[in-house]
Amino acid sequence: MAGCGCGCNTEGEGGGPFSLGKELVEFVYNAHEGTVRDKPMARGSIEVTCQGCGSPFVMETYLAQCPECGGVHAVAPMNPVPENVQFAGKDYKLP
Ligand SMILES: [Zn+2]
Repeated sequence: MAGCGCGCNTEGEGGGPFSLGKELVEFVYNAHEGTVRDKPMARGSIEVTCQGCGSPFVMETYLAQCPECGGVHAVAPMNPVPENVQFAGKDYKLP
């Protein structure tokens, strides 16, 4: 089982849609040559709590940053629910 559930077989370097933390963030960042990360979520935005500073914010795309602390969060496109949001870590900065 691989791929992100959208019909293609994109596989990141060592990461995948079931990765956790920074690996998932990097998977989403790189998925489909970077065309996934800025896409509005097909099922609508989700409300999440920043795993870095605890501030609530709304993720409208599969990869989003907390407006308070800049913490990078991502969610697997195939199951974008708040429980599946992964946090890259406090010191992580997007490439
Ligand atoms: Zn934050």
